[in-house]
Amino acid sequence: MTGIVTIVEPERAGRPRGHSYPADVLTDPAECPFCAGHEDRTPAARLELSLPGETSWTVRAFENLYPALHAEEDQDWPRELDAPWPYTGTSGFGVHEVIVESPRHGDSLERYSPEHAALLIEAWADRIRQWRADGRFACALVFRNVGTAAGASMSHPHSQVIAMPRVPEALVKELGNFSEEATLSRRCILCAATEADDKGGRTIFDDGITAVHAPWASPSPYYMRIAPRNCAESITDASPEERASLGAALVAAAGALNGAFGDAAYNLILHDAPYSARHAGLPFHWHVEVLPRRGDQAGFEWGSGVYTNVVDPDEAAATLRAGLALE
Ligand code: AMP
Ligand code: ZN
Repeated sequence: MTGIVTIVEPERAGRPRGHSYPADVLTDPAECPFCAGHEDRTPAARLELSLPGETSWTVRAFENLYPALHAEEDQDWPRELDAPWPYTGTSGFGVHEVIVESPRHGDSLERYSPEHAALLIEAWADRIRQWRADGRFACALVFRNVGTAAGASMSHPHSQVIAMPRVPEALVKELGNFSEEATLSRRCILCAATEADDKGGRTIFDDGITAVHAPWASPSPYYMRIAPRNCAESITDASPEERASLGAALVAAAGALNGAFGDAAYNLILHDAPYSARHAGLPFHWHVEVLPRRGDQAGFEWGSGVYTNVVDPDEAAATLRAGLALE
């Protein structure tokens, strides 16, 4: 459903670097603004959720101190920039938030309790709902960067949320693919892909509510797709049971990477229906991508938009299942 063209070529795996996904430790807890007790080093909390029995926050969201996008409360559209011809540009208009996922610096997703992981999903859904209700934005993206190779600057476990006034191109393309398949076969392309990956033995985790797969012809080695079996457009409609199941699936995916490779650098990206697409009734099935990173997207990938994958996803599924079994 991504529409990404992938060249699967396991023979290139023999190249020097092999497979390791180091996630560097980036900060000292004494310096970390995300640690419990350092709340005065971040902007004010916009959401705090606690596990039952905890006296302090477990998950805490606030504005990013160095936001990629920013919108004043009375500003409802980006400003045109005075760009030199033939360039055009607008000010970076939107919202950029950090969700600190744990009060503990050394915590990591694969070790969250089921209740803790469910609380994180509740926070994601809350922030998506919040910026939908705001009315100025077309979509919200939730993502996690883990390790320097994945672009992270902080090691304390955190997610981020970006709300934007336009739907970015990758999501427009994905929406187009959902609509096209619905017209052609009257099927959801993700439900069909899930079925194909089940049949192909590329399932890594499945509790009947949420499944984790190494999709056929995935764009990079050990890439995983996490999706609810129920075809739904937005995580904001998920029941508490579905949120808990997604939490368990995230923990399993992170555990599979950890078991297979030790500390892994990866990006995790939630694809939720853009607000505008939901409004227009366009078909969509929300899902999460897990993208292990080694900095291996080189000139050809950037120049062509075609991805090369040196690990056959069938092999990847087997390695990740073995990794999960070790956790
Ligand atoms: P990452 O770079 O992906 O690890 O994400 C960490 C984010 O936290 C970055 O986007 C930083 O701008 C943001 N950040 C760093 N320090 C603070 C702080 N004291 N308060 C709020 N956000 C921060
Ligand atoms: Zn910390």
